[in-house]
Amino acid sequence: MKADKAKGVLIVLSGPSGVGKGTVCKALLARNPQVKLSVSATTRAPRPGEMEGVSYFFKTRDEFERMIAAGDFLEYMDVFGMNYYGTPRAYVEQQLAAGNDILLEIDVKGAMNVKRLCPDAVLVFVVPPSMDTLKKRLVGRGTETEEAVERRTREAFAEMKLLPEYDYAIVNDVLETAVDEVETIIKAERLRICRRPDLTNFCKEAGTEL
Ligand code: 5GP
Repeated sequence: MKADKAKGVLIVLSGPSGVGKGTVCKALLARNPQVKLSVSATTRAPRPGEMEGVSYFFKTRDEFERMIAAGDFLEYMDVFGMNYYGTPRAYVEQQLAAGNDILLEIDVKGAMNVKRLCPDAVLVFVVPPSMDTLKKRLVGRGTETEEAVERRTREAFAEMKLLPEYDYAIVNDVLETAVDEVETIIKAERLRICRRPDLTNFCKEAGTEL
């Protein structure tokens, strides 16, 4: 009898704004077709260049709240107390069942919720080479006022406090290395006994079970 197909790995990637997690995600997805990105829903307005269904699914507050009531989200939250952000549940479940890995790029509080709801999720934190580098990157964006940079730096420090709750950390200094490291994490996670239905028959013969 053929063993069940292994479920994919649910990977949550977070890190302070300015750390370059979006770039790490993009490069990871380009190199690994079995890794699928979960597109979040949000009530915030699209920024120039953002596309519906690619960057986010853009919703009104009413639409979003109807989705909450229908249980459509794996997790959701009111980030910055202004806008809802949430992970649509159906796509995540479909991809995992199909054996694909799924990548969630969400904030630290959302990550903690996912960990509670899906204990086998793998939490990866993207760390800057130093807090000084992070501050320089935030200033370097040039799109924000000094006050906004100060606020984001404070938020970055607050987010870093949750680092001990994560399973892995990668330093985003050289992009290639950071992506290699996420791939290594995924490979190791796929070898975990709990993700190995291919070993079921082997265990049965040995008189044990998974
Ligand atoms: P932005 O508005 O800059 O695109 O995102 C703001 C914050 O919301 C980021 O920290 C981002 O990671 C987070 N975020 C995006 N999608 C989700 C989601 O589905 N759930 C949660 N909890 N946070 C999200």
